[in-house]
Amino acid sequence: MKKKSRCGVCNEVKDDGIHIYQLYICESCEKEMLTTDPGDARYQFFIEKLKTISKSVIHS
Ligand SMILES: [Zn+2]
Repeated sequence: MKKKSRCGVCNEVKDDGIHIYQLYICESCEKEMLTTDPGDARYQFFIEKLKTISKSVIHS
């Protein structure tokens, strides 16, 4: 059974995606993240999102 969640990257409610820590990433953002060049500003945006989440996990 699939559960709809709000993507932490694009803020859209999608029914396909993965959870990384508490962050939900939809399938399209996940694919985008995997295909984005590390030198791209968009990639840095993803990394910052993940850092924020992993910090909150470590300190909780
Ligand atoms: Zn998304």
